[in-house]
Amino acid sequence: MTHSTLDPAPAAGRRPAGRSALVIGGGLAGTTAALALADAGLRVTLVEGRPRLGGLAFSFHRSSPAGVLSVDNGQHVHLRCCTAYHWFLERVGAARLAPLQGRLDVPVLDARGRSGRRLGRLRRTGLPVPLHLSASLATYPHLSLAERAQVGRAALALGRLDPEDPALDGVDFAGWLRRHGQSPRAVEALWDLVGVATLNATAPNVSLGLAAMVFKTGLLSRPGAADIGWARAPLGELHHTHARRALDAAGVTTELRTRVTAVTRTPRAAGARPPPGGRERSRGPRRTFSCWPYRSARRTPCCPTAPWRTPTGCCASAPRPSSTCT
Ligand SMILES: Cc1cc2nc3c(=O)[nH]c(=O)nc-3n(C[C@H](O)[C@H](O)[C@H](O)COP(=O)(O)OP(=O)(O)OC[C@H]3O[C@@H](n4cnc5c(N)ncnc54)[C@H](O)[C@@H]3O)c2cc1C
Repeated sequence: MTHSTLDPAPAAGRRPAGRSALVIGGGLAGTTAALALADAGLRVTLVEGRPRLGGLAFSFHRSSPAGVLSVDNGQHVHLRCCTAYHWFLERVGAARLAPLQGRLDVPVLDARGRSGRRLGRLRRTGLPVPLHLSASLATYPHLSLAERAQVGRAALALGRLDPEDPALDGVDFAGWLRRHGQSPRAVEALWDLVGVATLNATAPNVSLGLAAMVFKTGLLSRPGAADIGWARAPLGELHHTHARRALDAAGVTTELRTRVTAVTRTPRAAGARPPPGGRERSRGPRRTFSCWPYRSARRTPCCPTAPWRTPTGCCASAPRPSSTCT
């Protein structure tokens, strides 16, 4: 979801009377969707297979000589351009627990670099895009002068691409970088530095479409888009405890430990079935939002339409107007 699909405040005037929704999956996407739907006036049930909310981004406890530790899994940082996540944090009252840095500033250490040239910084100034990174790039010690100039040219070429163009999905990012004059060193010390952190893969394993989306959104859209934030509290506190409190306050019925095994269509509604022994939903909700990860969401028979992509790369599939889900 992007921020444009979310409304920061409930709009009492446009409550669709008697409408209900079932959201399947209580990860970040599902919890966000459930809150947004409740704010829009729908009666919402959120169904999550695990005993907690948060999906991939959660905390668990481990004993250690220092005592019991709370360990986080998933989503270690977020960027200013993750607008749906910031909406979520605000909505559950946890924004102060995961603040953003004032300006992008990342120290980059090259352990093999020559003494005196080991520490570089990727930081932005207050200048408009793309000048906001030019000073940092011009003095980046991990690349030669020629490599820095080539990086600037490739970044401008990347900025001219349309990430929505399906043809870019068939082009590998590493090949594109090579054709745009990027040395192996530039790929390792700059492009992969950002790509691995945001796309979880090195350039040969990334499509040009995904790379264009990430680099354009994060580095070439607004000066502050790549400012980084991270949680100062355990992720479980944000994504489960605060989220559950907000869902309860919004009137969302949250059913944990409830795994949906099938989504079926009827002429008037879509319904979801829990496992044998679970409670059957005989009167299906008017809308079903499946917020489990992209691939499995696309396979559900109810919602074959393209899913929304969230800024973190996760997906929430939702019925489009032409869908038979309603
Ligand atoms: C180690 C790691 C590090 C990461 N680091 C970052 C990072 O630094 N920055 C960043 O932005 N992102 C990061 N991510 C990615 C981010 O955590 C995920 O993209 C995001 O949490 C996905 O949220 P989601 O709601 O789309 O999916 P999920 O979290 O997968 O949620 C889907 C939920 O649906 C439930 N579900 C599935 N099937 C059913 C069913 N049949 N019935 C009921 N419930 C069901 C699942 O139990 C789950 O809770 C990281 C992920 C990992 C694993």
